[in-house]
Amino acid sequence: MEWFSQNHRPLPWKGEKNPYYVWLSEIILQQTRVEQGLPYFEKFKSTYPTVAGLANAPEDEVMKLWEGLGYYSRARNLHFTAKYISKELGGVFPSDFEGILKLKGVGPYTAAAIASFAFDLPHAVVDGNVYRVLSRFFGIEKAIDSTEGKKEFSKLAQTLIDTKQPANYNQAIMDFGATHCKPSSPNCGKCLMSLNCFAFKNSKIESLPFKSKKKKKTRPIL
Ligand code: SF4
Repeated sequence: MEWFSQNHRPLPWKGEKNPYYVWLSEIILQQTRVEQGLPYFEKFKSTYPTVAGLANAPEDEVMKLWEGLGYYSRARNLHFTAKYISKELGGVFPSDFEGILKLKGVGPYTAAAIASFAFDLPHAVVDGNVYRVLSRFFGIEKAIDSTEGKKEFSKLAQTLIDTKQPANYNQAIMDFGATHCKPSSPNCGKCLMSLNCFAFKNSKIESLPFKSKKKKKTRPIL
C-alpha cells in the first residue's frame, strides 16, 4: 500500500463506489486488457448511465455496443443481470458478497472486487496478479491452477487483506502485480519487499507462480 500510494494507475473506475459502474468495469475487464476495455467502459457508461437504462435497452443494441470486445456471453450476461436487478431486485444492486456472487457471469474474483470496491467489504481478490505476487513473495509452489492451490492462495489472501481499507488493499496488490512484480522482468531492484521476498532471495522468480497444466500442443492439420 505504501508502494501504491505513489504508483497507482489512474483509471476511470478507480475509487468508483457506484456498484453498477464497478460491475460494468469488472465484466469488461474479464479476459480483456485494460487499454482495450477502457473505451468500452466509457461507451457503456455514457449510453446506459444507470442499470435501468441497460436493462431497458434492446439486446441487439447492447450486442452492437460490445462488438469487437469478444467473449460475447459477457454482454448477454450483463444484459440479463441488468434486467434481473431492475425487475427482481427493485433496481437495487446486491450489497453483500453472497448476493453479488449469485449474479450471472459473476465468479468469486468479480464478487470480491465489487464487494470491496463498491461496498468496502473485506473480501480479498485473487486474480493472476495476486497469484504471482503471493507465490513469489511467500515462495508457494502449489500449482495455481489446482483446486488445492486455489484454496491455499484464497485463504492466504484473505488473511492479508487490510480490513479497514479493503478497496485500497485489493487495488494495491493487483496494480503491484500488473506493473511492478510483472510476469517477466519484475522490478526487483527497486522493490520495497525484496529483502523478504522468497523468490528474489532464492532465484525462483522465473519458476513462480507454478502451473500444473502445460499448454496443449496443437497438431498441424494434415
Ligand atoms: S522482489 Fe521481485 S519478485 Fe519479489 S515481490 Fe518484489 S518485484 Fe516481485
